[in-house]
Amino acid sequence: MKKIVIAIDGYSSCGKSTMAKELAHRLGYVYVDTGAMYRSVTLFALREHLFDAEDTLDADRLSALLPQVRIDFRLNPETGHADACLNGENVEQKIRGLEVSSRVSIVAAQPFVREMLVRQQQAMGEGKGIVMDGRDIGTVVLPNATVKIFLTATPEARAERRYKELLMNCLLYTSPSPRDVEESR
Ligand code: C5P
Repeated sequence: MKKIVIAIDGYSSCGKSTMAKELAHRLGYVYVDTGAMYRSVTLFALREHLFDAEDTLDADRLSALLPQVRIDFRLNPETGHADACLNGENVEQKIRGLEVSSRVSIVAAQPFVREMLVRQQQAMGEGKGIVMDGRDIGTVVLPNATVKIFLTATPEARAERRYKELLMNCLLYTSPSPRDVEESR
């Protein structure tokens, strides 16, 4: 059967990536998680200490270092999904933590970051059999996608998704303080 390109757009916390992942899995397509790409650049910026105490980003330095950032996706045989890799390191778990989540929008707002990632996303979209999701996928990244979906949800459903996401982040990625460890003994 002829393979196509599917673009999933929509507001945050509507379930875009859940839907994209499931769709790709069922169709045997490649899922490109564009949010993971912005998250990976944010992790890179954190590791390079490019945020000051007030969370101001050193954009000039990030722009200079950006050519060193290589992002790709590799199939995780355990989950059947593609994990994000930053310069060859699997960072799928690390990019979901609060440290990254709370700063990713600052990095995603930088035009030079968007330019680079959109270019990479468009190159990935040239192959068929792709499901890509993100807020600008159907409009900016893949305006000629075969199928375009704009996902919406009620404010209540979005708030609940966001709440659960934050809760999971806290449970999974917040390291216990030495006091917590002591008290749990
Ligand atoms: O989808 P996810 O929550 O992982 O995306 C993380 C962040 O990356 C978004 O909140 C947004 O700031 C940014 N993003 C973007 N454009 C995309 C995908 C994500 O600006 N196509």
